[in-house]
Amino acid sequence: MQKLSLAIHGGAGTIEKSTMTAQKEKLYKDELERILKAGYQLLNDHASAIDVVDQTVQMLEDFPLFNAGKGSVFTHDKTHEFDASIMCGKNLKAGAVAAVKNIKNPIALAKAVMESSDYVLLSGAGALEFAQLRGIALADTPYFYTQERYDQLMKIIESSSTQLDHAGGKPIGTVGAVARDYQGNLAAATSTGGMTNKRFGRVGDTPIIGAGTYANNLTCAVSSTGHGEYFIRAVVAYDISCLMAYKNMTLYQACEKVVMDKLAKVGGEGGVIATDNEGNIALVFNSPGMYRGGVSKDLPLFSAIYKEE
Ligand code: ASP
Repeated sequence: MQKLSLAIHGGAGTIEKSTMTAQKEKLYKDELERILKAGYQLLNDHASAIDVVDQTVQMLEDFPLFNAGKGSVFTHDKTHEFDASIMCGKNLKAGAVAAVKNIKNPIALAKAVMESSDYVLLSGAGALEFAQLRGIALADTPYFYTQERYDQLMKIIESSSTQLDHAGGKPIGTVGAVARDYQGNLAAATSTGGMTNKRFGRVGDTPIIGAGTYANNLTCAVSSTGHGEYFIRAVVAYDISCLMAYKNMTLYQACEKVVMDKLAKVGGEGGVIATDNEGNIALVFNSPGMYRGGVSKDLPLFSAIYKEE
């Protein structure tokens, strides 16, 4: 039996109905559903899970309302620095980039690191050099500009704090995808512009294998979103896999344990999307909302934003 599955997210945080217009809500949900549909079609056409999470995250990166690729948040220096990672559950290969600039689709670069280098994680100027050598699409700084993100930076640039893109009712965040393909292979991918006003080369959980992204055919594929420092300390994505491997927990039990208990106890806000080798999907978050959606053989395509949906 073929147990295809695909789940995506566009960030978790303080996303509340009271701060949203019906028009904007529709815009987000239409986009989530359009991308899910396109990604699921690829799976049905026998594309591999790793290609599907890459393609799906690229579509999410191109949507300017999500904080990844085009529309990423601004750093303190009024620029954009991207983090991204991808992992293949079949062979445990992974690729990631951190604090890289001017890459149109950072997930494509992470995939190139996985497929065409001996490394797992490249950063900054070196990652850009690698991108140029590999012919990865670049984009000039204005491509990433959005007024909303610039206004967000202006509000907090004088302070020493960084801000989750979706904090304070700003409803946008990191993007990610997890999938199971016809061969039973799992894959996960995550991409972000990080946190508004970040500086000193700050890197979050998104490019950290085991925190922001993890995939293993024996257990699950996970993509995280939320306050990265906490996700790194709680090793969120790998911990979910470990609970399944060593404690025989189901996908949902493992996600609940890590996100609602362990992560919440250290003050970490956010969530995960995950799928297992049975094609089950779990979308678990401890924040008011998470842009999310899923589709599988047993689950009709759906998208949701708030908790009580
Ligand atoms: N996890 C990302 C980071 O800390 C932010 C997010 O998910 O919104 O960079």
